[in-house]
Amino acid sequence: MKEKIWLSSPHMGEKELEFVKDVFQSNWIAPLGPQVDGFERDLQHYTNSRHAAVLSSGTAALHLALILLDVKKGDEVLCQSMTFSASANPIAYLGAIPVFIDSERDTWNMDPELLENAIRQRLEKGKKPKAIIPVHLYGMPANMKEINAIASRYEIPVVEDAAEALGSFYQGTACGSLGQMGILSFNGNKIITTSGGGALLSSSKDMVDNARFLATQARDPAPHYEHSHIGYNYRMSNICAGIGRGQMTVIDERVKQRRSNFDYYVKELGQLPGITFLSEPEGCISNRWLTTILVDQKKSKGVSRETLRLALEKENIESRPLWKPMHKQPVFSGAPTYSNGVSEALFEDGLCLPSGSNLTQEQLREVVNQIKKEWK
Ligand SMILES: *Cc1c(COP(=O)(O)O)cnc(C)c1O
Repeated sequence: MKEKIWLSSPHMGEKELEFVKDVFQSNWIAPLGPQVDGFERDLQHYTNSRHAAVLSSGTAALHLALILLDVKKGDEVLCQSMTFSASANPIAYLGAIPVFIDSERDTWNMDPELLENAIRQRLEKGKKPKAIIPVHLYGMPANMKEINAIASRYEIPVVEDAAEALGSFYQGTACGSLGQMGILSFNGNKIITTSGGGALLSSSKDMVDNARFLATQARDPAPHYEHSHIGYNYRMSNICAGIGRGQMTVIDERVKQRRSNFDYYVKELGQLPGITFLSEPEGCISNRWLTTILVDQKKSKGVSRETLRLALEKENIESRPLWKPMHKQPVFSGAPTYSNGVSEALFEDGLCLPSGSNLTQEQLREVVNQIKKEWK
């Protein structure tokens, strides 16, 4: 069997172990410590966010963000439909109702026009949504200018799901620092990883301080254990934060490597009939976390996304359909949805290609050759 070519695998730099060794030497084996503080500073600096709390996962960060916005049972939260389930699950944790918004063609992210329609209709029904969750899918920034304008017109806070978009920029501003709050993920498949982890970013000190308080079991200041709130165990381990600090020393390289994968795929596959890539709208820089293609079977001599995926699988090359929209997921069936068919069409035709920053030139060539074969 040929060595597996992964979709996106962890890629350590040279500094991670040094930071972790330091953790062992100082015996800060805990969900707090100097590496946690240092990783938070690194993230603030890189994203130009005023405040950051590193947490056990991106999902935990989103859960806390919604708690801080006072999302409660029966409340509605507007959420991009085309995304990973972790964008919507925290809404359900709180007994709130996700209202799914379909995507626009230009970014594959939340369609601002549908968003505004949805808000108007929810208001007519007498219910004001508590939050808006746009996602920067595969690293491509959502149309934040429009989304933020609508959000401020109706005074609804925005929580950016930037789990896939560390290293992406919108009009010069880092994804994750464009809304009231933003979340990041450092899961094993993301552009940088701490094995598992996440962060909450905000320009509001209160929000981030409160998130840290809730994430540390909500201990009130007292010599004994005193609690006036339900707390969570959501902080990041100092060991993981050490890995994160090492990864932050190579983030720019990782973005460069992923963007160069994308350029290579475009150069090699761009001419194949029926294949299209998502280009960056004016003013947007995508970290190109994953390179994605659309395969139009009407123009591709019968090659479909699925025949292509299976052909690659046979060669031990991992590829994956795009995210299946949340409004088509059994677990969210019946959730109010504002759709335009875009996310469903993307799911039909879209495929994520191997995109790791540690892919070798030979591996990339192998992927491209196998894809080209299907057109012969
Ligand atoms: C990975 C991911 C998350 C969740 O992050 P975890 O750290 O795995 O909990 C949330 N949203 C999106 C869009 C993601 O890709």
